[in-house]
Amino acid sequence: MTNYCGYMGKVLLLDLGTHTAENYIWTDLDREKYIGGKAMASKILYDNLTGAEKPFDPENLIVIATGPLTGTGAPSSNRFDISSLSPLTGITSSSNCGGNFGHYLKKAGLDALIIRGTCEKLSWIEINNGEFIFHDARELRDLKCGETQAALQEKLNAEHGKKVSCGMVCIGPAGENLVRYASVISGERAAGRAGMGAVFGSKNLKAITAAGDAVPSIYDKEGAAAHRKKWVNYIRRHPLTGEQLPKMGTAGLVSSMQVHGLLSTRNYARGQFEQFEAVSGEALAEELTVTNSGCLSCPIRCTRRVPVDGKTVKGPELETLGLLGGNIENANLEQICHWNYELDELGMDTISTAGTIAWAMEAGEKGLWESGLRFGETEGLSKIFDDIAHRRGIGAELAEGSKRLSEKYGGKDFAIQSKGMELAAYEPRRAVGQGLGYAVANRGGCHLNGGYLVVLEGLGMNVNGQTPHGKADLCMVMQDLMEAISCGGQCLFTSYGVVPAFMVRNPNGILQRAVNAIVPFMGPAVRIYNKIPEIACFNIPLIPYPTELRYTTGMKLTLGEFTRIGERSYNVERAVNARFGVSAANDKLPKRLTDTLQDPGNPKTRVPLEQMKRTYYRARGWGKNGLPGEKKLRRLGIR
Ligand code: SF4
Repeated sequence: MTNYCGYMGKVLLLDLGTHTAENYIWTDLDREKYIGGKAMASKILYDNLTGAEKPFDPENLIVIATGPLTGTGAPSSNRFDISSLSPLTGITSSSNCGGNFGHYLKKAGLDALIIRGTCEKLSWIEINNGEFIFHDARELRDLKCGETQAALQEKLNAEHGKKVSCGMVCIGPAGENLVRYASVISGERAAGRAGMGAVFGSKNLKAITAAGDAVPSIYDKEGAAAHRKKWVNYIRRHPLTGEQLPKMGTAGLVSSMQVHGLLSTRNYARGQFEQFEAVSGEALAEELTVTNSGCLSCPIRCTRRVPVDGKTVKGPELETLGLLGGNIENANLEQICHWNYELDELGMDTISTAGTIAWAMEAGEKGLWESGLRFGETEGLSKIFDDIAHRRGIGAELAEGSKRLSEKYGGKDFAIQSKGMELAAYEPRRAVGQGLGYAVANRGGCHLNGGYLVVLEGLGMNVNGQTPHGKADLCMVMQDLMEAISCGGQCLFTSYGVVPAFMVRNPNGILQRAVNAIVPFMGPAVRIYNKIPEIACFNIPLIPYPTELRYTTGMKLTLGEFTRIGERSYNVERAVNARFGVSAANDKLPKRLTDTLQDPGNPKTRVPLEQMKRTYYRARGWGKNGLPGEKKLRRLGIR
């Protein structure tokens, strides 16, 4: 139970081996310290994993957690988070997802679901108003994600004698066959990264459905309604959240990335792709987009729907366009839309799939490992994807990801991954803050978990991307704020609105240039804020999240306290990973990005990682080993 609104007050621990469930104790003090979502999941993993578990062990846990805003109608608040030990990295990881499952999990009366053990046979679980039923899923084996969800809907309708309104998560063949980067799919959205689908597969868990009649309460309905109205108006007027994202989605960033030399090309050998226009957001909008759509309660509606095989389906995001476009030297937009759909149907992360394919293409060219794959030759890729998902032939090797392949065959310098997870599409040698973020990100090569500094370094603002100055402190504050936003249950795309609109509309104005020039020198000031965020004992309209949480939950939060929650989240995740052997030595990037210049004539076009790492650890109050010590964990109230 809880005294806070927004929450359902119940966390269920489900044992797949014994088919039993118990209430997991999660107190209001825990809610104040971690809010929900990923932070909550990380604390649960911290309290339950010893460091001896392996990703496919029955003892590994899956935590599916919502935030207090999930399902309350707050802007873009449909998100939920899946955390577990990742088969790709061997450490904890989380994957955030839209769709409607989070909303329905709360309708079923749960804030979070913890899963341990393994089902004896392939199963799916029905959760209804807090009760659960195990069902045999063997006849769903090898079904793709769309087919699986359609079959489950039919079964539920037949069982209940009416159309059942519910949310679902499921895996496809890739998850069943333990592809290390298999995703979990909910509707058309993916918890794509870090192989959460393979953990489902290892537990013989094909799907979960959730339904019920519970409704989260709102602490101050009138206040929340007025605040949301203002916020939605702001989102709709902002050039990124009101224009670019609805029109082009994240795909709209391709052109800016090209201009700034940030577009991963030819397995990150370059930052610009000659044929970028063919795979840009503009081309997608003009040539293929039928309409746009969005997740529940989202005013941004960033999804572009495109035609594939006679259907209208979710179109590709920037990551897929970049990594299945220029990064493998492919300029066929329709083909990328097709692959994007296929990979979601197979239940496989587009980023890691594409990163592994690009590595294999280069390894083949260099004579290290012959897979038959070559840059620019993309004819047979659909078949390769299917082979990966079924671990057939060469697909069985590709299913292991680029890190393991490079350890086996050579080519580590150009395996574009960090901690085992393939990087997103932002080439960081001209956005070195983003490079730092990729390296130190708790879950591996993730742009978002890394603080997403590229938004400052060329995509929303024009801060010098080649200077390391100020980047470590900025990286920390951005990571902490994004953690906190995510913990509430809101989509991180709302945070594009934090970049002042005037900076985006006229990036080359005098004032804008002055702001961009000053930012790298703000490191010391940001450092003070990072150390004592409580000095921000107020809230500001530009960062509306703590105010929204107050109206919804009744929890009084200042901007500083909100930032501290993000810091706590980041540290608890790091502390779990320390048990699994993570330290400064794992905060790495491939040599291509740290030692090879993107532009041989410009010595600044590499990521000066070690220099930035030292400052980053100091900013975080961590030791030289890159880890929070006992004192730090106590100060944050984690121990
Ligand atoms: S911005 Fe896009 S991904 Fe985020 S909630 Fe809205 S539609 Fe979903």
